[in-house]
Amino acid sequence: MSALAYLDHNATSPLRPAAFDAMVEALRAGGNPSSVHTAGRKARAIVDRARREVASLVGARATETIFTSGGTEANNLALAGTGRRRVLVSAIEHDSVRQAVPQAEILPVDGDGVLDLAALERALAAPAEPALVSVMLANNETGVLQPLAEIVRLAQAAGALVHCDAVQGAGKVPVDFRGLGVDYLSLSAHKLGGPTGVGALVVRNGAPFSTDRRGGGQESNRRAGTENVSGIAGFGAAASEAASGLDVSGFRDRLELALVQIAAGANVFGARASRIGNTTCISMPGVPAETQVMALDLAGVCISAGAACSSGKVQRSPVLEAMGVPAAEAACAIRISLGWNTEAADIERLIAAWQDLYIRVNKSDISHTHRRARAA
Ligand code: PLP
Repeated sequence: MSALAYLDHNATSPLRPAAFDAMVEALRAGGNPSSVHTAGRKARAIVDRARREVASLVGARATETIFTSGGTEANNLALAGTGRRRVLVSAIEHDSVRQAVPQAEILPVDGDGVLDLAALERALAAPAEPALVSVMLANNETGVLQPLAEIVRLAQAAGALVHCDAVQGAGKVPVDFRGLGVDYLSLSAHKLGGPTGVGALVVRNGAPFSTDRRGGGQESNRRAGTENVSGIAGFGAAASEAASGLDVSGFRDRLELALVQIAAGANVFGARASRIGNTTCISMPGVPAETQVMALDLAGVCISAGAACSSGKVQRSPVLEAMGVPAAEAACAIRISLGWNTEAADIERLIAAWQDLYIRVNKSDISHTHRRARAA
């Protein structure tokens, strides 16, 4: 068994060995992709190859794929670059979408975290300027998949553009940029076994796009700045491997079945919806998420309390709030996310540690009750 059971892939998935090797090779090669000499052309070839690999993961053209510093920058570029001032976003979008467009109109989700299509249709029917709709593919906390095909159909009928944050979906479910019909799609390398600090924005050929990143004209004038060649190489290698998919739903199902049997009243959020196969958001009633994270960490199991994107941040989950989960229950919800290197032993270790904690907490509750009863 490995030293740690790392079950926090939605925060960052460990670097795949193929990505590591590609990065080392690119670092050794050196060179600036804009230089015309041999070393420069070598670096350019590395970037071009990775661009094809990343584009191919999501069924896009290489010419539509712009490398960025990650999912956050891709979302910011998309939301600022379409020229649309009216923006509609779902209530469960990642902060990098919500905060990029604070003026956006918020679309509600149902109790399973699925976008309310009737609310989208009503918003699109309002006699206002043409909109940009931004809805994620898979939610980072619950794994719930959004009805993108329906969203695109409604948006196109109303003349709206569609941006999709596919950061958590790509590499976990097949993504077909062209088939989906979205205009913009965001990706992040470190969610699929590539390095941190690199991502991509896919912009459909012909879709409006302008940028404020000015400088040396890199990325076809769409995102200036010397490319992060080694990061991009790692992203390409990870995307190639991720293209064969992630089949961990068997582990996920085993885990959920065991956990709901251990803890009375444990709830899997979004369970009735269609979800990516790697994510479980579950509550242990009465036990704060931070306590669970710490107890599991001591047992060598890494998970998170909801979305853990900035260090140590523990706040009420807007996702669970939008789903109507009571605050007290949401405070006891943890996120477990599996990935390319998850093994059966990791799952068993998590189950055992969770059970230990549940027994410990309930024993101390029972002994308090007994002490109180004796004192009375
Ligand atoms: N979008 C979603 C859905 C995410 O889960 C995250 C990160 O957790 C991001 C965007 C941001 O990606 P990055 O960390 O590459 O900036």
